[in-house]
Amino acid sequence: MTQAPSIVWLRRDLRLADQAAFAAATAAGPVIPVYVLDDETPRHRRMGAASRWWLHYSLASLDADLRARGSRLILRRGRSETVLAELARETGAATVHCLRHYEPWWRNAERAVGEVVTLERHHGNFLAPPGSVTTGSGSPYKIFTPFWRALEATMPPAAPLSAPERLPAPGAWPASDTLDAWNLLPTKPDWAGGMRAEWTPGEAGAAERLDAFLPRARAYGERRNLPAVPGTSRLSPHLHFGEISPATIWHAAAERGGTVGTFLGELGWRDYAQNVILQMPDYAGKPAREAFESFPWRDDPQGLAAWQQGRTGYPIVDAGMRELWSTGWMHNRVRMIAASFLIKHLLIDWRAGEQWFWDTLVDADYGSNAVNWQWSAGTGVDSNMFVRIMAPLTQSPKFDAAAYIRTWVPELAHLDDTRIHDPDVRPRGYPPRLIGHAEARTRALAAYAQWNAKD
Ligand SMILES: Cc1cc2nc3c(=O)[nH]c(=O)nc-3n(C[C@H](O)[C@H](O)[C@H](O)COP(=O)(O)OP(=O)(O)OC[C@H]3O[C@@H](n4cnc5c(N)ncnc54)[C@H](O)[C@@H]3O)c2cc1C
Repeated sequence: MTQAPSIVWLRRDLRLADQAAFAAATAAGPVIPVYVLDDETPRHRRMGAASRWWLHYSLASLDADLRARGSRLILRRGRSETVLAELARETGAATVHCLRHYEPWWRNAERAVGEVVTLERHHGNFLAPPGSVTTGSGSPYKIFTPFWRALEATMPPAAPLSAPERLPAPGAWPASDTLDAWNLLPTKPDWAGGMRAEWTPGEAGAAERLDAFLPRARAYGERRNLPAVPGTSRLSPHLHFGEISPATIWHAAAERGGTVGTFLGELGWRDYAQNVILQMPDYAGKPAREAFESFPWRDDPQGLAAWQQGRTGYPIVDAGMRELWSTGWMHNRVRMIAASFLIKHLLIDWRAGEQWFWDTLVDADYGSNAVNWQWSAGTGVDSNMFVRIMAPLTQSPKFDAAAYIRTWVPELAHLDDTRIHDPDVRPRGYPPRLIGHAEARTRALAAYAQWNAKD
């Protein structure tokens, strides 16, 4: 009698190395790797356009890696539990293995899948299983610093598992959709040229990014806030899609010794965000400080469009928003400046910014995006105060953004380092400021004071 195969259900864990679901399934017998394009379970949280672009190439890369190991990737579309139950029936699979995910819709899907097939869930996309790091009295942390102290005390993570050399194939392969039929790539227009130039989705691309970063890891603390230099790792989309595990990055960086603590702390923020959405699943839609539901946000579609298009008249904000549009990524310091500008200078609800990032970032991540937007807005469990208003014209020279602005705002490229941050004469084609900084600051503080007095 042939041995029953196991299914490996893939989502944001598109890798072979340090992938506990593959390790467990391979040890048990024949393996059927499956990616289910499930747009129904997440509903309005279905993947954004930039994420779909990334997904296409990441799946192609994983399929090639599987084929080199005697296997292949099966593609199916529909509700996760319906598709997996059907596939288990078709193939006689006894068990489905997956890594655990913490987005509210994935938790629902895991529950539903577990009701129709035998589901084994494994840990591996975070430094520690979300929910496992608790206070002395066993409650989850809400604030980052004590969370990180407690998490760090449990480190290092277990040594990464190596990729299986061969994956035992089932007696017969079930049918698969073709990747092209999913239409994940933009066609009319094709806006992904800048993304193709910047990124190599897939496990090999992730390993290359890590290798390129490691020699620079010790300088991370000094350079991470400078958008014009390669100071940070740019691993975020690879981490989001699970093309590399955080444990792999931890061990590789820690081996370098020296001052990699700040960098490892950023991986800690990624874990923290998952702990937040585990406690507050609707964190992307609801301010944690509930009183902010009545905050008098302005309805300003023109301001929102100018921000989205990088036409606010503030060079550092415009550079960031154009970097995002072109490459699907934005430097963290500039994300903070651009988010603060939308929320405080334009007084536009942070949720409009969260949605735009969700659609345009290649690293769009439910937990990390929501936690950082609520941090910027001052509405979160652990966040900046609303009344702390970032000054883009001061931040720009402080973090040496001149060369960065030259790259992304060509209308200003001829200006020297002293004038480019805040041009006194606007070159043709570059818009005037939507609002002056002092005026915006006064307006935001007044709106806050009035609302706070009523509340
Ligand atoms: C308004 C706003 C929205 C954001 N939205 C996202 C998002 O959707 N997805 C996302 O991955 N990050 C988000 N971030 C966090 C951060 O900007 C990116 O993770 C970082 O810029 C990625 O670049 P890197 O890989 O070079 O990071 P590095 O500095 O090299 O850090 C290493 C890794 O740590 C993690 N990390 C770093 N900073 C943070 C942080 N503040 N919060 C959570 N994880 C972090 C990322 O996985 C990152 O790849 C957001 C930040 C802001 C201010």
